[in-house]
Amino acid sequence: MKSTSDIKRTTSIELFEKSKTYFPGGVNSPVRAFKSVEGTPLFIKKGDGCRIWDEDDNEFIDFCCSWGPLILGHNNPKVYSKIVAALQNGASFGAPTRLENELAELILSRNPYIDKLRFTSSGTEAVMSALRLARGFTGKDKVIKFEGCYHGHSDSLLVKAGSGLVTFGASSSAGVPESFANETLVLPLNDLAALRACVAEFKDQISCAIIEPIPANNGLLLQEKTFLLELRKICTENNILLFFDEVISGFRVAFSGAAEYYGIAPDIVTYGKIIGGGLPVGAYGAKKEIMAFVSPDGPVYQAGTLSGNPVAMAAGIAQLTECAQPGFYEDQEARTSFFVDIINTHAKAKGYNFELVSIGSIFWLSFDGKKRIHKAEEINPDMTGFKNMHHELLNRGIYLGPSGYEVGFISSAHSREILAHSAAIFCEALDVIF
Ligand SMILES: *Cc1c(COP(=O)(O)O)cnc(C)c1O
Repeated sequence: MKSTSDIKRTTSIELFEKSKTYFPGGVNSPVRAFKSVEGTPLFIKKGDGCRIWDEDDNEFIDFCCSWGPLILGHNNPKVYSKIVAALQNGASFGAPTRLENELAELILSRNPYIDKLRFTSSGTEAVMSALRLARGFTGKDKVIKFEGCYHGHSDSLLVKAGSGLVTFGASSSAGVPESFANETLVLPLNDLAALRACVAEFKDQISCAIIEPIPANNGLLLQEKTFLLELRKICTENNILLFFDEVISGFRVAFSGAAEYYGIAPDIVTYGKIIGGGLPVGAYGAKKEIMAFVSPDGPVYQAGTLSGNPVAMAAGIAQLTECAQPGFYEDQEARTSFFVDIINTHAKAKGYNFELVSIGSIFWLSFDGKKRIHKAEEINPDMTGFKNMHHELLNRGIYLGPSGYEVGFISSAHSREILAHSAAIFCEALDVIF
């Protein structure tokens, strides 16, 4: 067994001590604080291709990829040069630019599910705005959400299942009024009986059902296609809008996301992450009848000082142009399967209770490997396995997002050679922890 010593973190620790005096928990987004894995967060100073370097000059193969946006890896030359070219003309105007049209055309010409869209500056903002649109369009207030799906941090969606048999959600964050949470009906994923019962009771009050069609923020909770098809049918029959939150799956499993992957048409869709090429962009879209309700055409208000920011649009154009190349997603999926198969074959041969669950170029470390997990409540809450794995992988030069509930991503910069090398390291780390 290769012996490894813990990586040097002197500079990261120093920076973290400072950052704790500036930001709650020392970070600007909670999961970055490394709370659920060992040690202090690594401060990253540079990325290139599939690699990142921290402030102590440790080098890692990166499987976090900024939590998904970097499907072409870090510092892709085409994205980089397009950003620089846009920036030379100024950073922001607060007026329409040609670049917004270009990114919209690139998306809409390939996407049969939406006629129009609106750009925002984050996924959260896209979902929050689209939910308002669903309510404004239908004139109904309640929303169905599924336990284990994450939709950003707007009040209506920071809601978890209530206790006992109550369908009304309970807020999952302090500061969310109970009255808001009461408008959100929380159901288990992949459970048609629960869905039917809820719709029977509340159907005249439900504006939309929001789901991550590929739930990937709480493990990778792959849904049975029959469940998604039936959800589509039930929504149609009851005048409920089907809302696919594709902030993570959009442009990831296929250009038009899980809708294209499964061939299921949603009524409202949100995008984020990959759409901005690493810069802050989100978007929501729908058929034109629904989008006609958005201000200034319609009564649903939504705006943004930096929405459609030209530099961010340029990054999105450069990235999505690559994603739109023939064979891009087939290649992503083939390289991911190559990686995943090596590790799963090893784990199975050794009898480890572990499986790398994957779809497209997303993977998740399941330490409950024997059964397929469809619902949040089926995840083993003991994250010791992940914590140990994270530690062993960091020491061997592999960076995963610091939480066992988060998925990993493979970019086009992760070549087969890199993936073979990484898979061997995963196998070695598994041998140490089991
Ligand atoms: C990341 C994510 C969001 C939130 O996007 P932000 O850009 O972090 O605000 C919303 N929905 C899903 C499905 C996501 O994965």
